[in-house]
Amino acid sequence: MYHLAGMPEPLARLVEQLSAFQGIGPKTAMRLALNMLEQSEHEVKNLAVSLQHLHEQVQFCNTCGGFSTVSHCAICDNVKRQHGIVCIVEQPVDVLMLERGHFQGSYHVLHGRLSPVDGVSPDKLRFNALDNRIADGGIHELILATSATVDGEATAHFISRRYAHHNIQVSRIARGVPEGGELEYLDEYTLSRALEQRVLWEQGHAAASN
Ligand SMILES: [Zn+2]
Repeated sequence: MYHLAGMPEPLARLVEQLSAFQGIGPKTAMRLALNMLEQSEHEVKNLAVSLQHLHEQVQFCNTCGGFSTVSHCAICDNVKRQHGIVCIVEQPVDVLMLERGHFQGSYHVLHGRLSPVDGVSPDKLRFNALDNRIADGGIHELILATSATVDGEATAHFISRRYAHHNIQVSRIARGVPEGGELEYLDEYTLSRALEQRVLWEQGHAAASN
């Protein structure tokens, strides 16, 4: 813990709490805490209210699993979207990233990727919800936008096999990015091209499965 002698207890506690966040070391935490102390009490109280609302108000859409403040998100509720095309992603934030590419279909968020090493099996991800959506009918294409990591590729393979016997076209987003690239690092243009130039799963993986 980054606790300097004579540091007031509330400040030390805040520094410790901020240090718990990924990517924030004790020194950055200290700088942030001091910044907050310099702000007006009103501004800091607003920040506290935002933190409180974060868990109270941000939930996940019952259908796609993306971020929402109500039971169904604005994308799932939008009648102008092409709900027959479903882009499958790992995390809710991936939806926000792909929306920058002006995709007009809908999404399904798995809330993770398969990882035998970390004990993430299919039952830990939102596959049942996807099964239900497919069973409801109307979905004719799945676009696999899981990450270009080993586990992301394994997850894409699993999905292509799981829904192989359904009459659904499966495609993989094109990648103009380095291996291991995550969606959040792609710019708007690359995202939009990756979706447009998606490759049919059978074509892209014919060599691998033979
Ligand atoms: Zn939704």
